[in-house]
Amino acid sequence: MWKPANNLEWQKNALCARLLKSKNINLFFETDKTQKNEAKNMCFRCPVRQNCLQWALEHRQIYGVWGGKDEIELRRTLSVSYLGEEVRRRRYPNCPYCSARPEKLDTKIVELDSSGRWTTAKVVFCLECNFSWKSRTSANAVEAYKVDRAERMERQRKKREKEKKKRLKKIKKLSSAKPVSLYPKQ
Ligand code: SF4
Ligand SMILES: [Zn+2]
Repeated sequence: MWKPANNLEWQKNALCARLLKSKNINLFFETDKTQKNEAKNMCFRCPVRQNCLQWALEHRQIYGVWGGKDEIELRRTLSVSYLGEEVRRRRYPNCPYCSARPEKLDTKIVELDSSGRWTTAKVVFCLECNFSWKSRTSANAVEAYKVDRAERMERQRKKREKEKKKRLKKIKKLSSAKPVSLYPKQ
């Protein structure tokens, strides 16, 4: 069940805030792989990883490490470029929380109770772990994945049917051929 990531209450229990003094918070914005991994490891021990990840996705945090994901993984999940523009990728995102494959993701439209400009929003949810986040671009990517998958399956079905027909034709041809005598004519 999706709930908007509107408040920052969870930050009180953030492991990074407890362990790092302000001078070290840069660890979460480093480009070096070792440091990135160090930050990610801390996230995987953090009690509010899920809230942090949802907050980052719903507020388009596409720089730094959030909820155990670095900027590349966050952008891939959101299907946006480093400038935050929507892009259609060849690789579709997995669930950012449990890494379930894209076929385990689904979308729905939810009503928003805010008095803002939008009354509805698109939410993506994972059938494996129930993690959900509001993002139009992520939802578009999941829907595009479903269309691509349906088309791919249809192509495979047609190919299989064609091969089956070919095999049947060959069998028919063989069974209608005259039997060959094993003995020489006298
Ligand atoms: S998940 Fe990582 S970035 Fe988020 S609050 Fe926890 S330690 Fe900090
Ligand atoms: Zn999941």
